[in-house]
Parts: sequence; structure tokens; C-alpha cells
Amino acid sequence: LRGLDLLRNPRYNRGMAFTLQEREELGLQGLLPPRVLTIETQKKRIMESLGRCATDLDRYLQLIWLLQRNETLFFRLLIDHVTELMPYVYTPTVGEACQRFGHIFKTPRGLFISFEDRGKIRKILDNWPEKDVRVIVVTDGERILGLGDLGASGAGIPVGKLLLYVACGGVEPQRTLPVVLDVGTENLELLQDPLYPGLLRRRVRGADYDAFVDEFVEAVQNKWGENCLIQWEDFGNANAFRILERWRGRHCSFNDDIQGTAAVALAGLLGALKMPGVKSNLSEHVFLFLGAGSAGIGIADLISLYMVKQGLVGTVEEARKRCWFIDSKGLLYRGRALVTKEKQRYAQDIATETLATLGEAMEGVSDATASKPDADAAASQQVPQRRIGLADAVRLLKPTALIGVSTIPKAFDADILAQMAANHERPIVFALSNPTSKSECTAREAYEFTGGRAVFASGSPFDPVKIQTGGDAQERCFVPGQANNVYCFPGCGFGIHLAGATRFTDEMFIEAASAVAALVDESDLRQGCVFPPLSKIRDVSAHIAVAIANEAARTGVATRRGSGSQGQFTPADAYALQYDPAY
Ligand code: NAP
Ligand code: MN
Repeated sequence: LRGLDLLRNPRYNRGMAFTLQEREELGLQGLLPPRVLTIETQKKRIMESLGRCATDLDRYLQLIWLLQRNETLFFRLLIDHVTELMPYVYTPTVGEACQRFGHIFKTPRGLFISFEDRGKIRKILDNWPEKDVRVIVVTDGERILGLGDLGASGAGIPVGKLLLYVACGGVEPQRTLPVVLDVGTENLELLQDPLYPGLLRRRVRGADYDAFVDEFVEAVQNKWGENCLIQWEDFGNANAFRILERWRGRHCSFNDDIQGTAAVALAGLLGALKMPGVKSNLSEHVFLFLGAGSAGIGIADLISLYMVKQGLVGTVEEARKRCWFIDSKGLLYRGRALVTKEKQRYAQDIATETLATLGEAMEGVSDATASKPDADAAASQQVPQRRIGLADAVRLLKPTALIGVSTIPKAFDADILAQMAANHERPIVFALSNPTSKSECTAREAYEFTGGRAVFASGSPFDPVKIQTGGDAQERCFVPGQANNVYCFPGCGFGIHLAGATRFTDEMFIEAASAVAALVDESDLRQGCVFPPLSKIRDVSAHIAVAIANEAARTGVATRRGSGSQGQFTPADAYALQYDPAY
């Protein structure tokens, strides 16, 4: 590569950082202003221009534009300013970018595979110029963040996630591939928008859909092997669980909304257990989830598995009794109507007499028409169909941990939070819904309404909060942790890459969560934070990667060996493989 072609190639371009000698050798003389800049100066220039942007969306666009000019500089900048810049390339700004995708779209990134391309997916993969793709993030756009069906406009999500695989995990950029499987959208507003870039049709469902997804995975296996990681991202609920189950045993794959969220929530809970005033045994906790979708069920499944693996309880069924759910129909209990297969395992027993005193009669469902999940359900007597809201559930169950994965903003209101604080010395409150506009409460609300006693974390970032607590009206500063998947998936994917693993198991997520929690230190806890600071994310990822790679080796799914004794993977192995952008 020489001359203008070189300057226009984002992988090799260095802009004004090309030295005079390089300029002479590479035919760049005259194509750049005479001065030579260092990467540090270039970074300052970009940060300055971000400061001039009027909106966060403008900052997003500036950064993506930089990525398309100079990849090295983009990733150096993102790594060195990760706490500051992540909100622009990831949640919350990426949500806005997706919502307006058709209107701000400039240059495509990754592959768009539409349903009209069925039968030709393997050929389409050949259009991708990179030889050795190791991590694919794929979405069909049906449930983007908490924003609903955005169809092909969801493309910003796989792009954003993979930027974090590179910056936070250390996977080389050329080994990542964002993919949109475009099967249409139910979003009528988008279908009527002349600038919507996707297929103009309602969503493909059923056997055609499944065959399309199968063709995609088979094409990936054929081209890059079954250890090319596929991350399923932001699929609608019904498809998410089915696709995960179908492929997890046959290809290295995971669903980030189900399992990645679970790992990061478990990490946060393990961190919270170290907080003074919190019961340190996970099995002594009672978890109440607001939202029983991919995220909620995924978290409960993993914490239940963790309790069993740690020997805290005997069986998974026993462990699951500690997890309660509220969905859009209210509290889930045995005998209630409108319960899916995934929710069924968390439909707990409530005495009929107690039920009758709670909530209100459920509209449109009579006690007699309720689902009878199994023969012994409530001794097949009629179970009262009651819609039991969050406030009643908190009073009834006295949960030690409240976990918001509902996309319902402000659901954790002053009453709920005060009730949590009345029940427990240090109530755990995780408001995980993204983006910020969907958060169940803000950091300030969580601290203020619990007198500063909540152990709080949120999906999207909140600034530190200063509030007056206690009788002495002392001012305290809290630094809320960001319970975001970014603490897990980049390190997980990097670990899979490190080991060349052919499968991704639930045990690996437990390993990842434990690795994150192990890095939370005293000073983090003192500030109220149950996650390590984001500024340490590359170290966090390296430690996760080692844990994952060794778990892969232990279970015989690794195709590589580490440099330690008996092929163990070591932190040095991880750091040696980590992409570190420099000219
Ligand atoms: P989902 O599969 O669509 O599930 C949403 C759940 O919320 C469903 O169970 C739904 O009930 C329930 N719900 C809706 N309205 C409700 C109401 N008024 N009261 C109580 N429950 C209600 O979505 P998801 O994948 O689980 O994600 C949920 C949220 O978590 C999103 O905002 C997402 O961005 C966020 N999330 C955050 C992270 C993170 O890193 N922090 C990771 C993953 C997801 P029905 O089942 O009855 O429809
Ligand atoms: Mn997601």
C-alpha cells in the first residue's frame, strides 16, 4: 500500500504521524501537511474535537468517522479514555444511533445478510475480506437494548459490541465481524420511513426463520470452524432461548442478553456479598426480579447453578426457590396463568389464602382457566388469579436483592426503595435496564430513598452521587458500579480465542463472574461500588480470559495449550495475545 490508498486504508493509515522517512518511502510526500505529529498529540486533537460536539450522537459519529480513517488511533483513544468514551460508542448513545440509523448511516460496517439472500450465505461470507474471523456478534434487531424492534437499524449494536471486544478484551480488530440477519421488522414507523435501510416486510417467523439461522451458523462453521465464537445479541425472547439451546452444544456460541448479563449480575452479587452489612452467603438471599425476559431468567438460572456448584444448596430446584419474578402480568406464582416454559421453573408456591389477600383480580383470566403446569400443581385446586404488583411483592417476600430487568423506567420508586431499606440493613438494588432512559431508578434515587444504604449498580452509567446521610447530616459520595455486560463478554470472547475453545459452557460464565468479583477491592467497596473500575477493564478481561481458557482446557474443549505447567493458561499468555494498538 502506498500514497492515497494508504491514507485511505484505516488499518494502516497513521495520518500526520507518518514520519518524514515513511512519507518518502511510501509516496506520501505532499499528501500531508509537513508537520509530524505523535499519537499523543493526535489523541488530544480528537478529544478536543469531541469537546466541541453539541450532542452525544455527534460524538458517536465523530468517533465512528475516526474509526473509518485510522483504526490504530481510534482504539488507542478508546482504550486510554475508556470510562469517558464508552458511553458514546456503547450504551446509552448507541441506542440513539440505532434509532436513527437510516438517517445517520454513512459507511456500512460488517455484513448485512437478508432473508432474500437465503441459500447464498456461504458465498456472502466470502465477500468479507478478513481471513481468520474469531468473534462474530450477530443480531436480528428484534429487541435492541430496551428499545424494541429496530430491524436492520439494530446494526449499530454488533458494531458497538465488537469495538469493545477489541478495546476492552484485546481481540484484534480484523478477527471481529458484526452481522445483521435481516428478516424484516414489525416496527411500522420504520417500514414507513423512506430512509429505513432494511427489508421492507414483516418479520419472518417459524420454520423459515429457523432454517435461515441454521444456514448462517453452518456457513460460519464451514468457513471459520466451530471455534469461531458466535455471540447472539438482542434477539426477541422466543427466538433467543430457542436458538441458544439449538446451537450451544454444536458450536461455540452464547447469548449475551441471557448469559452475559447473568455473568455480570452474578459478578455484581458476589461483589455485594463482600460489602459489610450484606449476608455473605448467596443462598441466604431472596432475589426479586422485575422482568422475566432473557436477562432476568438468565441471571436466575446462573445464580442457581452457582449455588449448587458451590455446594450451598443441594439441587438446582432448591436454589431456584430463592428467585422470584414479576413480569408484565405481575408476580409469578404456581398456578398463575400466562406462564412460558422458561418462567415455569420460577413459579413458586404461595398459599391460596395468602394469594386471596394480595393484589387484585387478574383481568380477563378466571381462576378456572389458569394454567395447570403439572399434575400436582397446588393439588389441582383452583388457584386464585391475582395480579400482584411490585409493592405487594416486596412486602410479602422481603427480598434482600431487587433486580430490575424490565425496561420500565422509575419502577423502583421512593416507596419501593424505602420498603427495601426498612426490611434490610443493606438492600441490594440493581437497576439493569438500558439505556439510561429505561433504568428502574437512578443512582441518586437509590441512595436517597434508602438513606445511603442501598448496594446499587446499574446497566447504564451514572455519575457519582453526593448525599447527606444519617443523623449527623454528613455528606457522603457514592460511586455506583456499572453492572454492564462489558465486564464480561470482551474477556469471555478473548478467553475463547486464547484457548481456541469449541464450546462455551455455563461453568465458564461462573468462572468469568468469579474472576470479576475477585478484582473488586476494599477501596471500590468503600465507595459503594461492587465492580472494579472500568479503567481496569483490560486487566479484568485478561483475568477472565485465563479463567475461561483454563476451564476450556479442563473440560477438553480447548484446541490450544497455555504456557504454564501441564498446558495451563497464565496471565502472561493473555497479555501476550492482547491487541495493543500502536504505530
Ligand atoms: P425482554 O426479554 O424483552 O424482557 C423484558 C421483561 O420485562 C419481560 O419479562 C416483560 O414481561 C417484563 N415487563 C414488561 N413490562 C413490565 C411491567 N410493566 N412490569 C413488570 N415487568 C414488565 O428483555 P431483556 O433482554 O430481559 O432485557 C430487559 C432489560 O434489561 C433491557 O432494558 C436491557 O437493555 C436490559 N439489559 C441490561 C443488561 C446489562 O448489561 N445491564 C444486559 C441485558 C439486558 P412479559 O414477559 O410479561 O412480557
Ligand atoms: Mn443486548
